[in-house]
Amino acid sequence: MPRFRQILDTMAPYTPGKAVVAPDGRSYKLSSNESPYEPLPSVAEAIAEGARTIHRYPDAGAVKLTEAIAERFSVPAEHIALGAGSVTVAQQLFEAVSEPGAEVVYAWRSFEAYPLLADLAGATSVRVPLAGEDHDLDAMAEAITDRTRMVFVCNPNNPTSTAIRRAELESFLDRVPQDVLVVLDEAYREYVRDEDVPDGLTLYRDRPNVAVLRTFSKAYGLAGLRVGYMIAHEPVATAVRKTMMPFAVNHLAQVAAIASLAAEDELLDRVEQVVKERTRVREALIGQGWTVPPSEANFVWLRLGDRTQDFAAACAAEGVAVRPFHPEGVRVSIGSPEANDAFLAVAARFPR
Ligand code: PMP
Repeated sequence: MPRFRQILDTMAPYTPGKAVVAPDGRSYKLSSNESPYEPLPSVAEAIAEGARTIHRYPDAGAVKLTEAIAERFSVPAEHIALGAGSVTVAQQLFEAVSEPGAEVVYAWRSFEAYPLLADLAGATSVRVPLAGEDHDLDAMAEAITDRTRMVFVCNPNNPTSTAIRRAELESFLDRVPQDVLVVLDEAYREYVRDEDVPDGLTLYRDRPNVAVLRTFSKAYGLAGLRVGYMIAHEPVATAVRKTMMPFAVNHLAQVAAIASLAAEDELLDRVEQVVKERTRVREALIGQGWTVPPSEANFVWLRLGDRTQDFAAACAAEGVAVRPFHPEGVRVSIGSPEANDAFLAVAARFPR
């Protein structure tokens, strides 16, 4: 029997959102915060064209995609590092900063991958409980020790959907020591409508210890292709490039991401539709008597406590897959109007 690292015995595996099918065949997947839209024709064409050269390795440096991102966000190409999804970029960051005894601070509950990545990297997770549905940035600042190497701030927070405002985030950043990397995980940035919620790209410029994590998986609809990126000052970007597996971002992901940036207006129109649906879903839930925190992301959060699993099961019986985080609550992605209606119908019947 081969011997494995002990940490594998205690690590909870990542549980992806699964589709469910009702007895009548209906199936609505609202469990992974994906885009409800199929790829744009222009993106599908770029992928078909790209498929003609997949017998070759991809461009290891993803030069064209890096340039496209640099141009889109008016940042130097040297500030950009890519990965196979932003979760892989996060893993690369762990690889870059972790050493025995290293601590990583993040809110809890937040994105489930943080504890997994910390465990894999041999880092110690320091989880700071949310205050209600929000980050408790004072407590997070106080949790930083001389062993802290990295802090994750998920803005908007997955799964509670709320976002941190500028003044609060800036004063937090001012309290973090310069040798601690702060990762602003902005996987859902495109869905933010509250103007007080800062774009991380305005915060990182004067702060060499701040990195912004973004993805093509959500607003850009490329979850299945796995491509994400980080924008940070050159030493951070260089460290992340060094920890990337060779050719991690495949050719189809690169061409699709480039085509998506070229068609960004169309994609952002779709985001606008999702934001409208988010407002409709939240108002309908509130009208039904639910408490729903304001969402700046493409999902809503219902705190259900020990009824979390029952609620998820009631949804599943109607073909609606949601994401339960037992015993805290349920995260429900905003889907097509039809899928959202199916979810609202279950919520209407469930006891408050
Ligand atoms: N960060 C957050 C907060 C997320 O919710 C997700 C996806 N669930 C990711 C990062 C990772 O996204 P991807 O790896 O698809 O880019």
